[in-house]
Amino acid sequence: MRTPVHEYLAEIRDSCYYYSQGEVATYIPELAEVDPDQFGIALCTPAGTIYAEGDAENEFTIQSVSKPFVYAMALVERGLQIVDAHVDVEPSGDPYNAMSVDPESGKPSNPMINMGAIVTHCLVGPADATPQERSDLIIESLCKFAGRKLEVNEAVLESEFANRYRNVALASMMRSNGFISIEPDDAVWGYTRQSALNVTARDLSVMAMTLANGGVNPITHERVVPEWVCRQVLSVMTTCGMYDSAGDWLSSVGIPAKSGVGGGIIGSLPGQVGIGTFSPRLDSHGNSVRGVEACERVSRDMGLHIMAMP
Ligand code: GLN
Repeated sequence: MRTPVHEYLAEIRDSCYYYSQGEVATYIPELAEVDPDQFGIALCTPAGTIYAEGDAENEFTIQSVSKPFVYAMALVERGLQIVDAHVDVEPSGDPYNAMSVDPESGKPSNPMINMGAIVTHCLVGPADATPQERSDLIIESLCKFAGRKLEVNEAVLESEFANRYRNVALASMMRSNGFISIEPDDAVWGYTRQSALNVTARDLSVMAMTLANGGVNPITHERVVPEWVCRQVLSVMTTCGMYDSAGDWLSSVGIPAKSGVGGGIIGSLPGQVGIGTFSPRLDSHGNSVRGVEACERVSRDMGLHIMAMP
């Protein structure tokens, strides 16, 4: 049934259509060849009602939007103290693929950039898990956040892994600094596989709402992670989720968020809403241009900024 919320989202879709600046990611052909004009948006409520508009059912790879969820899994399995000992929670102001470490400890700055995300990937699963087993555990958990079975985009995985050398350099530094103990190539394969899962804007809204719901999936009602984990993850998303434009995002949109180079963005407002957007053209920070614009609109129109006066 179409509701006023659908009409509102359709109006956002139409107004975002005029934002045609930015470029799709070009580092692998599978991302370079997507239709750049796609735009989808979905909102999920705590009760599990989903309002979706535009290309909200189109699939794309989750990429870095997987990072907060894998950080959540590491926290569940290892606890805050051990995870904190492996990865900082400091905004780096650096791009996502930067060598970004604390100068004294050599720890990665935060789990929302590649370096920290490779470390949190390795913290999941038993120490003797094979790369395949660790990767399967992570994908299983990502599916619980989405409330449905997600598939790996094998072509993207293959292409990204063939171009893995920068991430292998980041993983090698983490191994050298003592924060991972598995082979850099294996760590990067698993990290790349988690990033190559196909999702839709609708899925992202459910995943975002699961975090905003204290860890309970609003559709399946399954508890995926405990509440304290969501608080930790949302805090780090607030300060680090949008890479080197995190400060700009916090002041203009004011919602804990995470973006990925596939064109996806999640926004999670505790107790209120999960937002998923998809549009492939990216700004210079690697954030979806129309996604940022749409989130700014939704935040302004609905008064969602976390610093807004009640
Ligand atoms: N596959 C990309 C990488 O690891 C993901 C980064 C991103 O989405 N920002 O380089």
